[in-house]
Amino acid sequence: MAPATLESAFSKDSTSTAIIVPGKPALTVSYQKLSSDVKTFQQKLAHVGISAEAAVSIALPNTYEFIVSFIAASWQRAIAAPLNPAYKQSEFEFYIDDLSSAIALVPKGAFAQDAAAVRAARRYNAAIAECYYNGHEVVLDIKEMGKLAGKRALVETAQPDDVALVLHTSGTTGRPKAVPLTHRNLLRTMKNIQATYQLTPKDRTMLVMPLFHVHGLLAGFLAPLASGGSVVVPPKFSASDFWKDFVEHQANWYTAVPTIHQILLRNKAPSPLPRIRFIRSCSSPLSPKVFHELEKTFGAPVLEAYAMTEAAHQMTSNPLPPGKRQPGSVGVGQGVEIVILDDAGYEVAQGKEAEICIRGENVTKGYLNNPAANASSFTKDGFFRTGDQGKKDPDGYVIITGRIKELINKGGEKISPIELDNVIAQNSAVSEAVSFALEDEIYGQDVGLAVVVKEGQKLNASELKTWMAERVAKFKLPKKIFFTDIMPKTATGKIQRRLVAEAMLKKEK
Ligand code: ATP
Ligand code: MG
Repeated sequence: MAPATLESAFSKDSTSTAIIVPGKPALTVSYQKLSSDVKTFQQKLAHVGISAEAAVSIALPNTYEFIVSFIAASWQRAIAAPLNPAYKQSEFEFYIDDLSSAIALVPKGAFAQDAAAVRAARRYNAAIAECYYNGHEVVLDIKEMGKLAGKRALVETAQPDDVALVLHTSGTTGRPKAVPLTHRNLLRTMKNIQATYQLTPKDRTMLVMPLFHVHGLLAGFLAPLASGGSVVVPPKFSASDFWKDFVEHQANWYTAVPTIHQILLRNKAPSPLPRIRFIRSCSSPLSPKVFHELEKTFGAPVLEAYAMTEAAHQMTSNPLPPGKRQPGSVGVGQGVEIVILDDAGYEVAQGKEAEICIRGENVTKGYLNNPAANASSFTKDGFFRTGDQGKKDPDGYVIITGRIKELINKGGEKISPIELDNVIAQNSAVSEAVSFALEDEIYGQDVGLAVVVKEGQKLNASELKTWMAERVAKFKLPKKIFFTDIMPKTATGKIQRRLVAEAMLKKEK
């Protein structure tokens, strides 16, 4: 049997559809064509000197060329390193330097425009190649050879424990950390996701998450391919095109962060509604209020999952019906072991809060060049410490109560910002609310709160405090409320409480 790698992960000779890129006309690619384009591109990579362990930085948007170059790099035993194409030069420099990238793949025209990725790659002497689909094959147009000058490599065959992908964590709680993921790690997640949602060749997903993070890459793209299904790949999420593409290309599910679900709720739902088998939510907390609105508006079960880069994405999920969906909970471990451990590494009693820990074949062996983080992240039994605080309900469903580093420690009293956000989200005048730690002379930390008020509604700080006082203990009431028109978020739509706090304090000055 062929070893389990991305090369054996999907059918190579099937004529059924793998990828659809919307457009006029749309591009429809079969598994056969995809495999042959990947093979050809792998040969091109070898030809320019990409060999085992070379880092291939892919600074492309969600496109067919992203897909082909990503899979080809992994087949070639190289390390695919997708990067957000919207990064500024200093960000590209950080990532290209961190991995000593051998080559940077950039969009057509980037070289002539002296784009940020091009300048960053040149600074570290990486080769630079424009990469695009010409209607027949994916072109690798080398603009500068950099450190690959004079090199040539043989076509290789990847092994299960080769690193296929390096992604950085989102940097929510500190500097982004480089996470190497092997073929084995990726395949385990692909199988787990396939099993959780019973994905089959009949399923078609609408990809709205970027491919440069695990959410889009694993749940929105690789898992569907491993199931023999198909993926609709627009270049990015567009609220106005979402349902048009969904209906036209007959998608039947999608996965996204809560921000995207909320944008869809604010826009008109399609009529008649397409048949949606399920909606998956992941990467940030989904408030029970949005959960119910989604189910009501789109007539589909909403399955919240919990994931992280270090676990090659998914760890837990709520199950499909007839399994129980529990709003406010991220469900149960899916193909992995999930335990709640205290600081000493002992499992706590059911219902008690402590650190969520995971063990499974999907979890990285450790961060790159970060012995300190590796030493503190694994228990002696091989569990990975997620840094998230949570508990299990009587049915074993996991409830995340916050990030350990983001808990608001008010004079020793730990306050969960997620819990507060969920309460405030129920106020009918509130569009978005994010609580965070404020430095405080007396308590060390106190509660700060940033609020976006719904259009056409009015709300002041004392009204909101009075409303909250009926719902949460007095010590949890915010010391200060900041009203803002927009809530700062990361490229992937994540809330970074640290940054929200900084932005609010800066605005005040
Ligand atoms: P860094 O590790 O650099 O601080 P990060 O943890 O945000 O950044 P990611 O790996 O992208 O980087 O995100 C994983 C984290 O996202 C989880 O540890 C958890 O805190 C959060 N998360 C994921 N899914 C959910 C969810 N359904 N509900 C609440 N939080 C979630
Ligand atoms: Mg993290």
